[in-house]
Amino acid sequence: MAIVGAGPAGTACALALRDSGLRVVLLDKAAFPRDKICGDAVPGHALKALRQLDPAYTEALWQLQPRDDVRRSRLVAPGGASFYLHWKLPTFNSPRLDFDAALLALVRQHTTTEIRENAALKNVEILPDCARLRLADGQEITAHLVIGCDGAQSVVGRRLLPEPRLARAHHCAGVRAYFEHVGGSESGTTEFFFSRSHLAGYLWLFPVGAGRYNVGLGMLSELVSKHKIDLRQLLLDNLATHPALAGRFAQARQLGPVRGFGLPIGGGRQRPASGARFLLAGDAASLIDPLQGHGIDLAIRSGILAATQARECVDKQDFSEELMQHYDATLQRQLGPQLARSYRLMRLLGTRPWLMNLGTRLAQLPGLGRWARRLVG
Ligand SMILES: Cc1cc2nc3c(=O)[nH]c(=O)nc-3n(C[C@H](O)[C@H](O)[C@H](O)COP(=O)(O)OP(=O)(O)OC[C@H]3O[C@@H](n4cnc5c(N)ncnc54)[C@H](O)[C@@H]3O)c2cc1C
Repeated sequence: MAIVGAGPAGTACALALRDSGLRVVLLDKAAFPRDKICGDAVPGHALKALRQLDPAYTEALWQLQPRDDVRRSRLVAPGGASFYLHWKLPTFNSPRLDFDAALLALVRQHTTTEIRENAALKNVEILPDCARLRLADGQEITAHLVIGCDGAQSVVGRRLLPEPRLARAHHCAGVRAYFEHVGGSESGTTEFFFSRSHLAGYLWLFPVGAGRYNVGLGMLSELVSKHKIDLRQLLLDNLATHPALAGRFAQARQLGPVRGFGLPIGGGRQRPASGARFLLAGDAASLIDPLQGHGIDLAIRSGILAATQARECVDKQDFSEELMQHYDATLQRQLGPQLARSYRLMRLLGTRPWLMNLGTRLAQLPGLGRWARRLVG
């Protein structure tokens, strides 16, 4: 079994294959710890899914430093009104540099997976009796099955899917930078700022521990390209001029450059995530939540589902496209409704700032906060 990519999807898949008796190789082009452009907010459902595999995994992750334990989010509407959502599942923010290295350490500690870092996949082809992977250094690996967990620019997806490109309406662009000395922030609170200048997206301000903040901006790619928006500049302009942010960033110090990356969002017309002898999980399968932009949880959950599918294939000695469709059906059943609802909501709110203002006011009424939390997942 070959898993390509040792981010949340790939590591969860390897952890879920523990005790399967299968020989598993986990490749990544990077050497860990490696950075990943992200908001660094680990959704509660990511930790819940790992805890269901083995509580020892989450116990280890709760020791991670630096981190900021999150209990609530503050949503600030374009008109300036704001409200708090209190989350049921305990969770934290932690820089992906540390979080992903901790996930890989769990694979190293708890499984017999062969981990190969600095191993970039260049090409993959499906032969009648195996998948053949060619690495950038010329080495070849053959496997019964390849599980593509190689992120938004998945080589496995590009090589093996008949229709590999995502429409811009199903893709977001995001940028982020780290800051310290941000005024007025509360530990345990993630903040989301909506504005007329970045519709169908938002600016986030997430504490990540050790006095640092992950600050970023994400938006639908079709809008970025239609309005020729420079997201890096828009982020910095907002921090300097936004009425709710300018004062808080007056003394702030930026740590490193503003860096960007793509978010393949789910919820529209979903592309297949499998075929003969291959499965895709996480960003490679375009599973990011369109409304909130979180994907770590969906990567972990799909990585675990891919492992279940892999076991079934081995048990039945059947790696056909037909059997793999069970995996697509399970993804659709378990993750599809949430993604579709978020996509519709993102498009609705993104083009109607007045609706966001109204929703923010309504959510402040007693009893309606719970409704708002259910709506945003
Ligand atoms: C700006 C931004 C902000 C975000 N904020 C959040 C957030 O706050 N919370 C949240 O939950 N999600 C967030 N996301 C989404 C989240 O980052 C992803 O959904 C998540 O990382 C997906 O995990 P993954 O394992 O599928 O892919 P990745 O984490 O991208 O891991 C893929 C791995 O594959 C490796 N790889 C790639 N190509 C190859 C190759 N050819 N050969 C070998 N290895 C390869 C990479 O090195 C990498 O380690 C954000 C994304 C962006 C871009």
